[in-house]
Amino acid sequence: MSVRDVNAYYGDTHAIKGVSIEYKANEVTAMIGPSGCGKSTLLRCLNRMHEEIPGARAEGQILLDDTDIYGPGVDVVSVRRAVGMVFQKPNPFPTMSIFDNVAAGLKLNGVKGVDMKERVEKSLRGAGLWDEVKDRLSSPGIGLSGGQQQRLCIARTIAVEPRVVLMDEPCSALDPIATLKVEDLIHDLKQEYTIVIVTHNMQQAARVADTTAFFLLGDMVEHAKTEDIFSNP
Ligand code: ADP
Ligand code: ADP
Repeated sequence: MSVRDVNAYYGDTHAIKGVSIEYKANEVTAMIGPSGCGKSTLLRCLNRMHEEIPGARAEGQILLDDTDIYGPGVDVVSVRRAVGMVFQKPNPFPTMSIFDNVAAGLKLNGVKGVDMKERVEKSLRGAGLWDEVKDRLSSPGIGLSGGQQQRLCIARTIAVEPRVVLMDEPCSALDPIATLKVEDLIHDLKQEYTIVIVTHNMQQAARVADTTAFFLLGDMVEHAKTEDIFSNP
């Protein structure tokens, strides 16, 4: 996914200032920087979530397989399907079972019956959650622990087979053990997806990211291989 000279605004606030960055397939890119530097805003621009915020607008090009996701005739639903998002606070659909949380997006895509069961199992396995939940698929998603809920949200996101998975500080609401599980999972997920993760945590970037981009006041000030950034010269 290729971001080319993107600017984003909330009314008069210039939140992203001409940023260009390439997110490579099968790599994890971390975006790091102080609060308010525009990390979440850029993440939202990548699947057009900013369009849900009154007064927010973005300009520039974001290419996914040569298609500009802001281009004429590109519908937002197909963009959100191709570019999934995992949020900071685990947010399973509160009234739905574990199974239905993962099935929800698939249902919209017309998946049914045996296919549905297989796809749900595959997604829960992909999120490293199957063994923990296979005997209670009908119980509420919000009955799981925080770490399990976050992995359920990851299962829900990958169920529709996106190309890119965006993660907005996915571990900052989790305890250290749950954090390590999600970080392990991120390593596995990059075999299949392009991963973009916003984090406040340098150690986390060092653990999970192939490349790390630093942001300051809406500018991207550096983007390099993580091992080069964190190794001492
Ligand atoms: P973070 O640093 O993790 O992005 P913040 O505390 O800065 O979290 O923001 C939390 C939420 O409030 C975000 O969804 C952000 O978009 C929103 N927000 C941040 N600044 C403003 C603002 N000036 N006006 C309205 N909403 C804001
Ligand atoms: P970060 O994720 O790095 O903490 P944000 O992308 O949340 O930064 O914020 C970038 C800038 O945009 C900040 O100046 C913030 O106050 C502003 N901002 C973020 N969300 C909103 C919003 N919903 N409404 C107005 N301003 C916002």
